[in-house]
Amino acid sequence: LMQIYRPLNMIGFVYREIRQGLTDIEEMFKLLDQDPEIVDKPDARPLAITGPVIRFDDVHFQYDHDRPILKGVSFEVPAGKTIAVVGPSGAGKSTISRLLYRFYDVSSGAVTIDGQDVRDITQNSLRSAIGMVPQDTVLFNDTIAYNIRYGRPDATDEEVRQAARMAQIGEFIESLPRGYDTPVGERGLKLSGGEKQRVAIARTILKAPPILVLDEATSALDTKTERDIQSALDAVSKNRTTVVIAHRLSTVINADEIIVLRDGQIAERGRHPDLLMRDGLYAQMWNRQREATEAEEHLRAVQADK
Ligand code: ATP
Repeated sequence: LMQIYRPLNMIGFVYREIRQGLTDIEEMFKLLDQDPEIVDKPDARPLAITGPVIRFDDVHFQYDHDRPILKGVSFEVPAGKTIAVVGPSGAGKSTISRLLYRFYDVSSGAVTIDGQDVRDITQNSLRSAIGMVPQDTVLFNDTIAYNIRYGRPDATDEEVRQAARMAQIGEFIESLPRGYDTPVGERGLKLSGGEKQRVAIARTILKAPPILVLDEATSALDTKTERDIQSALDAVSKNRTTVVIAHRLSTVINADEIIVLRDGQIAERGRHPDLLMRDGLYAQMWNRQREATEAEEHLRAVQADK
């Protein structure tokens, strides 16, 4: 009997492993971008949240030995506030979000949440406290409802619908013939970049994490989509400690502090009007972006008139 039992037991084991593997596919994507040396300390404790207040203290970081990426970055995000990180491509903006999520460890300095160094807490508790809305959301080949519910698998249908509405994607979903049961992803309905990002926002609304990290898509959006996404982001970041890797004017205007990163260092910091007055790198960047947006709007208006 044992001869039959053992292989059967093995099949059960393999089945469970595969199923676990499939549900962990998003985790796997994250792992691909993670340093294999990141492990919990033997005495790691779960993160205890009071604020949460995020601090970067004189953070230095390099992916490769000979190329420093962050060179002494310090800032604090008070509880419930929003900080926007802007700067030229390659300045190290996304690296900040990776260090907060502890995909990598700092070379020196520290990243803390409510005074706890992220290296001293369990990765599990750290990551369940952070909601990430990435630039490009990978959707599962499943229904829209499934993709939103992924944020909290025990959410009810009504909660899924509410999250979708708050993320400004509810009306769109409800207008589809199959509504929330519409298959999406590779083999289903192809959603635009802006729609996918709103699905990710709905997912994060369901997860309701105390900390939020948004990596905005660089791609240009039309004014209406930008406005929709902005109100979705306002809904999700309200009263949450938020770090936005920002590419759009509408996000930074409302940020409590803007950090302008250049070449791994903070070149300027402050609120939008103060930074515009300084007439430095920030003012240059946003004037250029505004001109580009205006030119694009003009082009659209001309095309619409034809
Ligand atoms: P963008 O606005 O273009 O997204 P960014 O400011 O977010 O740029 P980062 O993604 O933080 O820039 O990258 C900063 C630098 O680190 C870049 O020069 C990049 O090539 C380098 N870099 C990023 N990831 C890795 C990695 N895994 N290994 C080695 N170098 C990396």
